[in-house]
Amino acid sequence: MHLPEIALEEALQEGECALCWLAQKQLLRRVDTLFAEHVNDPQWRQLLREGKGFCAYHAHLVLSRADVLSLSIIAEDLLTHISITASTKRARSAWHCQLCEAQAHDMEQMAKLLAQLLRQAEWRVRYEAGKGLCLPHLRQVLMNACPEVQTWLTANESQRWQALRKQLQEVIRKHDYRFQHEPWGEEIGSWRRAMHKLYGVFAEEVHNER
Ligand SMILES: [Zn+2]
Ligand SMILES: [Zn+2]
Repeated sequence: MHLPEIALEEALQEGECALCWLAQKQLLRRVDTLFAEHVNDPQWRQLLREGKGFCAYHAHLVLSRADVLSLSIIAEDLLTHISITASTKRARSAWHCQLCEAQAHDMEQMAKLLAQLLRQAEWRVRYEAGKGLCLPHLRQVLMNACPEVQTWLTANESQRWQALRKQLQEVIRKHDYRFQHEPWGEEIGSWRRAMHKLYGVFAEEVHNER
């Protein structure tokens, strides 16, 4: 197996959505590498000065991971070089986020690869054993898949959706005072898993139980 395939195999085992899991892993690695190795890289500095910075979400992530010195160097450089004037193109629009862009590119590649791999029976077994994909990533893979894979994948995820619906119905039922004494089973956390299925959020936010 090649490296991207090994990464996908691991993601199918570990992720609440395989591609969300992979995206998060690659994102953390990218942020760590940038701040460990590129703080004094003139090209990266220039990119940041030209407005390819971070969206608020990724700025928050950067803040939680980068060290104080690196952050101070980068922030001081940007405060020196960025113009406040309202008339510039940069000032009118939000930051163009280099991490969002890199992530979108990575996921496009991975969605294409997964669509290809799911032609093979062994990859369908791997997919079935995992937790599948969130809806945004599912649609991305479907867009890149042949009709036969599209049919298989749609049927597979439909079953997962049905199972989730049953669990959610159990949660709703157990909020009725007549059934409140009943013990909870596999439906615990189903609302988190369902929100993840629909919108794709990071796995660690999904694993918190009730
Ligand atoms: Zn996802
Ligand atoms: Zn971003």
